[in-house]
Amino acid sequence: MPTDDASRGASQRLEGVRERIARAAHLAGRAPADVTLIAISKTHEAEAIRPLIAAGQRVFGENRVQEAAAKWPALREETPGIELHLVGQLQSNKAEEAIALFDAIHSVDRPSLVVALARAMDKADRRPPCFVQVNIGDEPQKGGCPVEALPVLLAEARAAALPVAGLMCVPPLDVEPAPYFALLAKLARDHDVMALSMGMSGDFETAVTLGATHARVGTALFGDRA
Ligand SMILES: *Cc1c(COP(=O)(O)O)cnc(C)c1O
Repeated sequence: MPTDDASRGASQRLEGVRERIARAAHLAGRAPADVTLIAISKTHEAEAIRPLIAAGQRVFGENRVQEAAAKWPALREETPGIELHLVGQLQSNKAEEAIALFDAIHSVDRPSLVVALARAMDKADRRPPCFVQVNIGDEPQKGGCPVEALPVLLAEARAAALPVAGLMCVPPLDVEPAPYFALLAKLARDHDVMALSMGMSGDFETAVTLGATHARVGTALFGDRA
């Protein structure tokens, strides 16, 4: 059981983030319920995650398959109804493990991964929704497919019967994120995908006003990572 202090802190942070999402949604004429808050628990131990589960949070995200595989089976055993999203880069040789463990994949970014995921889904007979990650700032070090490669990658994903739910991005650091979120939203409209996974602790309100359906928030819920 979480301590009283940990419980209170977690509920307050969760409530605060939810309120900020609701305010941003209202400003944009959107329903707060149309935004799924994904609590990004990477690097945090089970003891730090339990208070947030106790506070009612059920949707979590991790960026590494190995770390998630070590932490989440036990936590899920304790609390049914947890939804786990993969938000980090995925190696093709971990596709099977990822499909077994995660309820959504936010990092589909290349044709070889489309093939590996499609094969893993067929084998497991389990088809979690996928987001195609776009390298929206065209940054050399960043994951995600180049903007100009998106149409072909989406066509390949659809041809392989991946359930493409939406697009995902991480805008460049230290610049105004709004134009990047707006571009991702436009790409989603152009290509007929519904969901938008965008917005982190520093910019989720901006993302929500620009149409985010999935906000990936770590630090604002858990505090700083070690
Ligand atoms: C870590 C991470 C987040 C959460 O970042 P915070 O700034 O801690 O909210 C969101 N998305 C991805 C892809 C991440 O790796």
